[in-house]
Amino acid sequence: MKLISAFVFLLLIGFSEFQLVKYKNYIVIKAFPNSTRELKILNSLRSSLKNLVDFWSSPTHTLTPIIFSVNPSSRRHVLRFLKQQNLNATVLTNNLQEWIDREARYVKSRLQAFAGRDESINFETYHPYEMIETILKSQTAKFSAKVIYSTIGKTYENRNIYAMVIDENPNESKPVVMLECGIHAREWVSPATCLWISNQLLKNSSESELLQKFSFHIIPVANPDGYVYSWRTNRMWRKNRVPNDFFGFCRGVDLNRNFGTNFCKTGASPISCDNSYCGKKAFSEKESQAIRDHVLSIKKSKLKAFFSVHSFSQFWMYPYGYKDDLAQNHEQYNTLSKLAVDAIRKVHEEQYQYGSISKIIYKASGNTIDWLQENNLSEVSFAIELRDKGYYGFFLPPHLIRPTAEEFWAGVKAVIQNI
Ligand SMILES: [Zn+2]
Repeated sequence: MKLISAFVFLLLIGFSEFQLVKYKNYIVIKAFPNSTRELKILNSLRSSLKNLVDFWSSPTHTLTPIIFSVNPSSRRHVLRFLKQQNLNATVLTNNLQEWIDREARYVKSRLQAFAGRDESINFETYHPYEMIETILKSQTAKFSAKVIYSTIGKTYENRNIYAMVIDENPNESKPVVMLECGIHAREWVSPATCLWISNQLLKNSSESELLQKFSFHIIPVANPDGYVYSWRTNRMWRKNRVPNDFFGFCRGVDLNRNFGTNFCKTGASPISCDNSYCGKKAFSEKESQAIRDHVLSIKKSKLKAFFSVHSFSQFWMYPYGYKDDLAQNHEQYNTLSKLAVDAIRKVHEEQYQYGSISKIIYKASGNTIDWLQENNLSEVSFAIELRDKGYYGFFLPPHLIRPTAEEFWAGVKAVIQNI
């Protein structure tokens, strides 16, 4: 596959040395809460320091590593507090910016090495949005008999939101499997995983049987503006980039809180500067509208399985997120999830936990899969947190993209072959 030249490519993307938002001397802490008392301590730290700490995973379970970064101004206070509370915590780095720079240098060198080569997509690196567009177009040109792509919406910054439809006999009306990746900008392994799966479906003849049975709809980057911003300006960005006020002081809506089920009630913030800001109203955002409209364009009862792909923590989750009640087809979810995590473990020995969102992580209203479940739009829908369990967090090294995608794909197949 011919990729764009290194020169054009370097003009297109930015790297951390040009990024406006720096994380110099931000520390990253891994805490390991042993009791509910310690979970409470972490939650109180989170609410009292608000924008001075950024929890990459939520303190909801004991014996699960919790990673968070701390603004340099609060660093001494936080470390002293954790020590006083006798909480098991390790400083992973004293300078988050070093992680960002190291990743940028590595990604840059891999992309330069592969630029212009006429070969498969390089899964040993992450790809910027412009390059994903190029890959998508060249895959479509090369495998035109079984893939088409369409623009399902435009973002606030006028970028395209793409969906690929991969199907060996597109004229037959087959059950649909949908994957939504990259709705949270900084979770880079998610779009990389969607790309790997599309490549697998197109190139690997052993997947042909699946393509006879299902039509795969893949949204590789559900939040293009946020993704681009996480490459060019702020590596830790999560939301989209819509201005929330006249001056654009606080930007962005958490798209996975903007869907129309129990909108902004639990586990979502009405405050526009917050990372989990739900937006002004349900489906206020172009990205959530695009996903909604694409789902609604599929013939009723044809959508069999939907996968919302996130990172990190290694969780395989199902509805509900907004309430503790079990889904009506809870037993089906339980059976399919067990099959999925068993299949995952067989690939690279990785363990994923499974259960409903509200049980596994936290209550979160307005998420994609609750909306699908509540409106009977898909037979089953899952939200997956890919690797890892909190060692690298959002900075999953590129050599782990392939194993992460391979095991996730095994989980997806275990589900769709048993619906
Ligand atoms: Zn996410």
